[in-house]
Amino acid sequence: MTQHTVVLDLAAALATPHRCSACGSTDLSTLTETHRDVLFTCPRCRLAWRFELGDLVPVESGTRTRA
Ligand SMILES: [Zn+2]
Repeated sequence: MTQHTVVLDLAAALATPHRCSACGSTDLSTLTETHRDVLFTCPRCRLAWRFELGDLVPVESGTRTRA
């Protein structure tokens, strides 16, 4: 078990919809978190999602967060 759990105070405040739009899984885990972006990864379909404008949008393959 290498599940990485992060307490999302900001996300909780914004009521982040932790549900994968592709497969409906609610078990999204945080991939990375910055001041501007919160990326989630779905353990079921392995898609990555970005929380943007109050919605989850798919992260294009190859897109990485810019540190
Ligand atoms: Zn999924």
